[in-house]
Amino acid sequence: MTTFPARARSPLPGSTGTRAPSLSEVDFERSPFLVIWETTQACDLACVHCRAEARPERDRRELSTAEAKALMRRVRSFGRPLFVLTGGDPAKRPDLVELVAYGAELGLRMGLTPSGTPLVTPELIAELRSVGLSRLAVSLDGPTPAQHDGFRGVDGSYDWTLGMLKAAREVGLSTQVNTTVSRRTLSDFEAMARLVDGLGISLWSVFFLVPTGRARMEDLPSAEEVERIFERMYELSAGVPFDIKSTAAPQYRRMILQRQVKERKEGSRSEAPSPLTAGVGFSLSDGVGRARGVNDGNGFLFVSHRGDVYPSGFLPLPAGNVRDQDVVRLYRDHEMFRSLRDPDRLKGKCGSCEFRSICGGSRARAWAMTGDPLESDPLCTHVPTRYLKRVERGEAEEVQTYFANRIPGWGRRAGATSRGSAQLPILPSRAVTERERIDGEC
Ligand code: SF4
Repeated sequence: MTTFPARARSPLPGSTGTRAPSLSEVDFERSPFLVIWETTQACDLACVHCRAEARPERDRRELSTAEAKALMRRVRSFGRPLFVLTGGDPAKRPDLVELVAYGAELGLRMGLTPSGTPLVTPELIAELRSVGLSRLAVSLDGPTPAQHDGFRGVDGSYDWTLGMLKAAREVGLSTQVNTTVSRRTLSDFEAMARLVDGLGISLWSVFFLVPTGRARMEDLPSAEEVERIFERMYELSAGVPFDIKSTAAPQYRRMILQRQVKERKEGSRSEAPSPLTAGVGFSLSDGVGRARGVNDGNGFLFVSHRGDVYPSGFLPLPAGNVRDQDVVRLYRDHEMFRSLRDPDRLKGKCGSCEFRSICGGSRARAWAMTGDPLESDPLCTHVPTRYLKRVERGEAEEVQTYFANRIPGWGRRAGATSRGSAQLPILPSRAVTERERIDGEC
């Protein structure tokens, strides 16, 4: 197991000296903390888990430059959310620099997640930095070229990605690495931690698979395996010179709080428990920051390349389209968004959970696996006492029965606990079917 000695936290490349707006000032009922725009579906990679089901050519129906600028103006009326250009590969758009410059001039904090291809040159990174890009985020999914390139489907992607990080460092641009944890990459986690430790990044975002797009149910790790990764993330966050967060796994916040409560009882921790104290120093220094309790549709908003507004890219249920509806009103008033922000609307053990306000489970994974975005997230080991009492009183089903009745093909896996939820379905994802249906309608 890798151990990292605690190191002093020094100013990062790209530090603006200005903090993000106080997180307590961001009312998620009114404004998202993070808005992601899928600039294009076009991408030269062929990743095995691709959410966007990317393809090489641009879609003629993607938002135009003028439409994108209009979107950014409306997003600015939320306040100063982080506005991230994603894809596909945003570098496939010829107006990329113009859009980043426009958003920065409006006062948005601009992020970019290009694909690891030769399209993003050191010159382009320097130009993006000069027009106001706040942070560059890249995906690294394996500790070696063979593993990463195998995951991304194109030879050379590993080297291009490391080259992008190096070029960003050289111009003082803050960086982030996104890593997908799936069943096939679980054993690479320690080697990945060693790799990212030497890259000078601000944030390591560990993404836990959601079976949408090309991702398959059988690629999901078990809840127990995910919990062990959480434990390592927490341990690592005490010693590495960057922040570590989970994506599509808000139950990491639950695990942090449980761990900190235990540490206080044992006397090894004096501060009050807080999920954000487990690594939120470096993410603030470039003005990007992090927020407490972000979840799909709750502090988070996704706009597709055609302008459809979703609670997240992994929860592709359209509330409307920015071409004929106001994105601000959709976020604040649409019934789906409002229900996703109400922890009391959650079902199953998530609905009975004492952590539902700070966690709530991945709404995207709940939908992908059960067809209902308010259902319980099956990738969590925690069984709330309140839920167990409901089971004892005959008011709720035992956890395994609950998921078996809602997820086709739910079956017992070796090592699953009787109280945990480490069982996985084996049938194809309904999310893939739904995504195809959405695409077919447009
Ligand atoms: S049961 Fe649901 S709300 Fe509770 S910690 Fe697990 S995923 Fe989060």
